[in-house]
Amino acid sequence: MNYKVGNVLISEEDIVSKVAELGKIIGEDYKGEDLVVVGILRGAAIFMADLVRNIDDRVNVSMDFMSVSSYGVSTTSSGVVRINKDLDNVIKDKHVLIVEDIVDTGLTLSYLKRVLLEREPRSLALCSLLDKKERRIADISVDYVGFDIPDIFVVGYGLDCAERWRNLRSVYSVDVLSQD
Ligand code: 5GP
Ligand code: MG
Ligand code: MG
Repeated sequence: MNYKVGNVLISEEDIVSKVAELGKIIGEDYKGEDLVVVGILRGAAIFMADLVRNIDDRVNVSMDFMSVSSYGVSTTSSGVVRINKDLDNVIKDKHVLIVEDIVDTGLTLSYLKRVLLEREPRSLALCSLLDKKERRIADISVDYVGFDIPDIFVVGYGLDCAERWRNLRSVYSVDVLSQD
């Protein structure tokens, strides 16, 4: 398939102000605490970089990363998740905030949440830039959401289509150019 970037769904300007708002709320919620921010590679990397810089220094922030992939057909999630890269640090008795680019069916996060809860963190919360609520299968609630979006495939600001377009500053829809 051949794809091209479509229309802007969320502008850079709207992303910048939303990320600042989320950082401020998270900063209030965790003030005086240690917080391990866990980014899910690779989609969340750009969002996470901006988000942590909007959490003020009353929170003692550390960063860790996980990389997961779901078995199954390309754009749909099967809920069976393989951990390609695990956390580097122990999270027992720590406040943990998982940062995702997008929650779609919720199957990836519901699996990840189960895995991380077994490690007995002090608390575990989820933050996602985008939420495609219509597509939800797993019963999972996201504590901090940037934007609710409709059921369309999007790229930019960390989100890819076959590894392209993560570097775009806005979030765009994707158009199919041809089937080959
Ligand atoms: P879930 O397990 O919630 O269905 O899958 C979430 C993952 O699917 C996201 O972390 C992301 O990698 C991918 N995904 C779901 N919807 C989109 C989308 O619209 N655009 C992109 N680029 N990835 C998506
Ligand atoms: Mg992701
Ligand atoms: Mg992807």
